[in-house]
Amino acid sequence: MELIKAKTLLSAYRSNSDWFGHHYNLNIYKGCSHGCIYCDSRSDCYRIENFDEVRAKDQALLTLEKELKSKRKKGVIGSGAMSDPYNPQEAFALLTRGSLLLIDKYEYGISLTTKSTLIERDLDVLIRIRKHSPVLVLMTITTADDGLASVIEPHSSSTSQRFETLRKISAAQIPTGILLMPILPWINDTSENIRDIIVKANACGVKYIYPAFGVTLRQNQREYYFEQLDRHFPGLRDKYVRAYGERYVCESPRAGVLSELFEKECRRLGILTKMSSIIQDYQSGFKDEQLKLF
Ligand code: SF4
Repeated sequence: MELIKAKTLLSAYRSNSDWFGHHYNLNIYKGCSHGCIYCDSRSDCYRIENFDEVRAKDQALLTLEKELKSKRKKGVIGSGAMSDPYNPQEAFALLTRGSLLLIDKYEYGISLTTKSTLIERDLDVLIRIRKHSPVLVLMTITTADDGLASVIEPHSSSTSQRFETLRKISAAQIPTGILLMPILPWINDTSENIRDIIVKANACGVKYIYPAFGVTLRQNQREYYFEQLDRHFPGLRDKYVRAYGERYVCESPRAGVLSELFEKECRRLGILTKMSSIIQDYQSGFKDEQLKLF
């Protein structure tokens, strides 16, 4: 794996962010090899060349330790926004695990977003962190169908495997959630899919589901997505072009129906769906001086 220079790994949000209450963002790797056809990180604005090739930050753990030591305020560190912290390379590079050990040592909280079962390996550290700080594990799940997942997220763990991982992590009393996004127009935007995911999530002890009933498309990412549509869903590109042109937000034509169904089913099963409630729930009990500072 290629190493790249990086002065910092941790960036602070100005205030307690709306995104799952993260106070800091951690990017350990650059690029991601999970191959999701809709990945936003392929967009031109991020300027990541050869996105599918994973690169690690040189001296990552030394840099991170310096940063963790020097911050005046502790808080929750989010990882998984721009690349999956459990890329296949993490199995041998151990940089995410090393980061978690440091996060435990310096008593920060952690919120991880992934599509990989590899996170199970680090359950021991997550349990330790939860003794002093908030911990949240988010799994992105877009389809209940393993066959469809293998087309739209070809190198990630299968949906069934992701559910099994959520079951194990929830059983260890770590709060878990699902990012139900993107919901791709005319691909996974069916009522059956949404209902299946909610029911399976509930059976696995998942407490939160946060949805987006559409997909966002930007320059470069759109071209890649359309190429994959041509390959796997012939004819769909034209439908997208007619419906959305070059629009950034491409909402599913079924968004209204799906959203209603989603809220009803989650309410019935007691799954939280509002960002403020999710943050309140997984951070509750840790409202000490550290978190209040934000
Ligand atoms: S796992 Fe996330 S970062 Fe990686 S390709 Fe898929 S959407 Fe992109």
